Parts: sequence; structure tokens; C-alpha cells
Amino acid sequence: MALAIAAGALAFSLLALSLFSVIPAKAAVNAAADSAAIAAAESASASSVAQACAIADQAASLNRATLLRCEVAGGEATVTVGRQILETTFSVTARAAVPRPEATAANGAIPAADLVLVSYPGVRESPAVYLRADAAAALLQLLEAYHAQTDDYLPVDEGYRSLEDQHRLFDQYGWPRAAIPGTSNHGEGIAVDFVNPPVVRGATSHSWLAANAARFGFSPLTDPDEPWHWDYTR
Ligand SMILES: [Zn+2]
Repeated sequence: MALAIAAGALAFSLLALSLFSVIPAKAAVNAAADSAAIAAAESASASSVAQACAIADQAASLNRATLLRCEVAGGEATVTVGRQILETTFSVTARAAVPRPEATAANGAIPAADLVLVSYPGVRESPAVYLRADAAAALLQLLEAYHAQTDDYLPVDEGYRSLEDQHRLFDQYGWPRAAIPGTSNHGEGIAVDFVNPPVVRGATSHSWLAANAARFGFSPLTDPDEPWHWDYTR
């Protein structure tokens, strides 16, 4: 009998011991998940998704947890962090809303008089492609250089985009695939979309852009990865 009581007491104290260590540890995993989600959401509005998830990873580590999953989509950061407690890995998922960047008044509302029609073989004619004057001049030089070297033409799909069209794309694709209306470089008249396909990663046209676009002031959009989208950044 005494042995049974002793065994029961031992079992109880082991249970109590594990409960006392597990409960605060689980609270710590919750806190780690919350802080990682907030870190991802806050940084996503200022930087790229990849950077936002790297910062979430740091936030999780600071809380002695491991980032297991990080996704920023639809204006929300979703992270899962895990922490090993005794023999079990506890994982917690948390979400935080991404603060929206300030939209500028002119974005997507540039007067037609301030835009230049881009007219060159391969460039979409209807609806026509417009860009800010400096970006249009640079793009023409780029298109001519490509033609001179390859005897081919780069197909251009889109340049300037109105706020109304950006709203339509945003409703269709969500963030980050579509920029938040009022913040897109298309709305500034400095972004170019080549036709996709054929301008995809691995294609000759894309390799040429990767090697030469910078000479004309164009930079690729890599996060999110859109091989067809190039920004005039000069
Ligand atoms: Zn684009």
C-alpha cells in the first residue's frame, strides 16, 4: 500500500514537474509566434517578402524558437514557429496585418500630357504603351540594342497603368503579386512588363535583359519573382 502511494506521489510530482515546465514554455512559443508575425508584417511593408521572413526568423530566434513557415500574402503575414519542450515540439501559428504603404496622389493618375507613347516593333499597340519620358527614351534604346544584337524584337506588354487598372489587378491577384493600388511603379510610368511567356527565366530574351538592361537603367523585379517586370530606376 505504502509503495502504491509512493508510486502515485512520484507520478503526480513528475506530472506536476512537466506541467510547470510546459505551460510557461508554451506561453513563450505563443509570444515567439506573435513577435515573429509582427516583425514579418511590419518589415514586409518596407522591404521584400524574403527580407520580411528573414526578420521574422530573427524574431523567432530571439525568443528561442525556430521559424517553421513564413508567408506574406493578401496583406497578411502568417508565421509558424516551433520550440522543443521535453520530447515534444510545440508549434504555434500567428498572423499579423501588413501596414499599407502610403499611396502617392499622382500614382496611376499621371496626366496624359506627361506620358510618352512607346512605339516600336513588338510593343503592344492596343491599348498603347505609355511611359514617363525618360523611361520611354531609355526603353527605346534598350529595344533598339536588343534588335541590333539579335535581329529579333522584345515583346512589350504594358507600361504605365492607371489607378483603376491597378485596383482591378489587385482584386484579381492580391498582394504581393499585384502592388497595393497607389504604390505600383506602373502607376509612376517607370515599370515595363514584357510579354510572359516568352520572356521567362531561362529564355534567351530574359538572359539578354539580365545581362544588358542595367546599361539602360532597368532593374529586374525579383521579389516577388516576376521575370517579365523591369523598373526604370535611374
Ligand atoms: Zn509589372
